[in-house]
Amino acid sequence: MSQSTDTIFSKIIRREIPADIVYEDDLALAFRDVNPQAPVHILVIPKKPIPQLAEANGDDGVLLGHLLLVAKQVAEKAGLTNGYRLVINNGADAGQTVYHLHLHILGGRQLAWPPG
Ligand code: AMP
Repeated sequence: MSQSTDTIFSKIIRREIPADIVYEDDLALAFRDVNPQAPVHILVIPKKPIPQLAEANGDDGVLLGHLLLVAKQVAEKAGLTNGYRLVINNGADAGQTVYHLHLHILGGRQLAWPPG
């Protein structure tokens, strides 16, 4: 279920609350997760407030591809040469808590599979 598009991540984009921002361009922002689940845990978000992947549409294809390329670049810059995982939690069953689309970059340790 989608919720308000004005989330805490919109406030980070507008610099209304602080975040450890590691990358920014016209379309995307990346910042460190406040509750890291791995030695490196960075979130990549679109500036466009898409609540969740399920609400992206055909017009968002270029933006979604851009987010993947940003994630790759941010992971490289973070030194994740031995691998990393990208996660998108979509909706309640996945445990999505912030309804502004985001990619988790997780790395810096061996990650278990399957995830919980
Ligand atoms: P998800 O469960 O996929 O919706 O992930 C939301 C993520 O946002 C969680 O990993 C939180 O720790 C993270 N988070 C929530 N608020 C902030 C914040 N102010 N700055 C950085 N990360 C945050």
